[in-house]
Amino acid sequence: MSPRASTKARRDPAEHGQFDPEHHTENLLAIIQEIEAVPDAGGLIARESMEAILRRHPRDGKGFYSRAQLIAGARYLLGRGAVELDEERFVRRIRMRPVRTQSGVTPLTVLTKPFPCPGGCVFCPNDVRMPKSYLADEPGAQRAALNHFDPYLQTWNRLAAYRAIGHPVSKVEMIILGGTWSSHPETYQIWFVKRCFDALNDFGEGRNRCDEASQTRLDFNALRPEAGSNYNETVGQHLRGRLGGALLDSGEGAEWSELEQAQRDNEAAQCRSVGLVVETRPDHLSLGEVLRIRRLGCTKVQIGYQSLSDEILSANKRGHDVAATRTAMRWLRAAGFKIHAHWMPNLLGATPEGDIKDFEKIFDDADFRPDELKIYPCSLIESAELMDFHKRGEWHPYDYAELLEVVTSALVRVPRYCRVTRVIRDISSDDIVEGNKLTNFRQIAEQEISRRGDTCKDIRAREIRSERIDADSLELRGTHYETSIGVEWFFEFVNPEDRIAGFARLSLPRGSSDLDELEGSALLREVHVYGAATELGVRSSERTQHRGFGQKLVEAAAAEARKAGYQSLAVISAVGTRIWYRRLGFVDGALYQHLSLEA
Ligand code: SF4
Repeated sequence: MSPRASTKARRDPAEHGQFDPEHHTENLLAIIQEIEAVPDAGGLIARESMEAILRRHPRDGKGFYSRAQLIAGARYLLGRGAVELDEERFVRRIRMRPVRTQSGVTPLTVLTKPFPCPGGCVFCPNDVRMPKSYLADEPGAQRAALNHFDPYLQTWNRLAAYRAIGHPVSKVEMIILGGTWSSHPETYQIWFVKRCFDALNDFGEGRNRCDEASQTRLDFNALRPEAGSNYNETVGQHLRGRLGGALLDSGEGAEWSELEQAQRDNEAAQCRSVGLVVETRPDHLSLGEVLRIRRLGCTKVQIGYQSLSDEILSANKRGHDVAATRTAMRWLRAAGFKIHAHWMPNLLGATPEGDIKDFEKIFDDADFRPDELKIYPCSLIESAELMDFHKRGEWHPYDYAELLEVVTSALVRVPRYCRVTRVIRDISSDDIVEGNKLTNFRQIAEQEISRRGDTCKDIRAREIRSERIDADSLELRGTHYETSIGVEWFFEFVNPEDRIAGFARLSLPRGSSDLDELEGSALLREVHVYGAATELGVRSSERTQHRGFGQKLVEAAAAEARKAGYQSLAVISAVGTRIWYRRLGFVDGALYQHLSLEA
């Protein structure tokens, strides 16, 4: 196991239009011919075989062709009629890194532009070239900056990059990051989301309107990173100085009706949004805010718990208490959102023993119990205020053994209904002043857990991903637990080894709902079926998607809701899944789709 510390963004020329297949026709034809001659075992070509082929036909006599270049070349030659090829099969056999899409959906992360943030958290980086809390050399942040933080350019170019390396782009989870979403001006939020939808819609139609994209080239790179000691003032002044005293350019705004049209266009588009995620702070959520986020088309909210201790929150100048997190969780649950929490050990004032106890509350206390979790041990970044505490000897990073104890204790406590999406934030080791720089710490912790004879049962440790499965071996299993608003059911299809092929989340709220549209309804919060993301409408005999598991999960949820006495089932559907739910009998409401359970 080799530690992976530095994660600088890499740019592949083929992704950026600098590779001209015309000049490589001879080599490309030879490579494609040899790849086609390798017997098809239904998966990727063995790495050794692939490398041998590439070695026989070096690019310009020395380097190797990348997968993206091979795919670009194959598409070019297909277009010229120079080869006969099943493009989808060819791409499936040679593509790299299936991990990114094997959970069934292609994630696409975009960043908002830098804005002043209402938080003053001492651990938060102050890189004024980036939206608050992001660093200029994080891969996603670099991509965002290259695209001037424009939502259309970010989305369109990322789709193009995914397509170039052979990933399907028909089902996309849009993840919008940057600062505190709920504190950004509403018109900017509407515009930002609309432009993401525009890019999805255009890309699917083969339209490229990147030239028309609004690019308020504010050149944040001109700012000096050390100016971050006062992030809000520096960023605010920079924006206002270039935008006539405002935080927004005149092009960075849209009406709800424009967004709603873009959403309708996306329902049947080739690239559909099957999930939309924003990140915000607990104290910025309210009933009105969750309804507004929902109207944007959101299905999941990332929310920073950071700690469940008022003392630690206060020491870190978090600006809210644990009660605010409890309240925010109630709003999010009442509105049916999937909840992705962030938790940070090793904050100012924390100890390993205290963190282990803090983590226990996440799942012992019915007010929390998130669906997904990021465990981000606090990293020391030069631009963060924490640096001052470190210099005074008032904070130090946990050593390897302490961190390992905290992370292993946490991972084994995660119940089967939660997915730990990340352990350790993916920041370049160059940015970490002192402390852990191993980004593969999860692997290390999992090995330690198995050495101790224990196992992780969270979703990620059990998901089937792109493996072949024996569908007949799958059984439906239901787990239920209390939440702050009622009972939650987690249905999952598992095989005899407890590997998970798909799951659904059903919420059975008690009492009257705070949301009129959801009064008397059970809530279907998520349906997810694993298998490498396959193109919409393409049937795969080997994988779990498109085999009816999604429908069976919906039926199981409806049956449980009916048994519990609910007369309807509401689903917090993504724009790109509306058609699927209509086919199952759901009818459109204002913000949700509804299935009558009365018959
Ligand atoms: S609220 Fe989030 S982005 Fe703002 S300072 Fe705190 S951690 Fe950073």
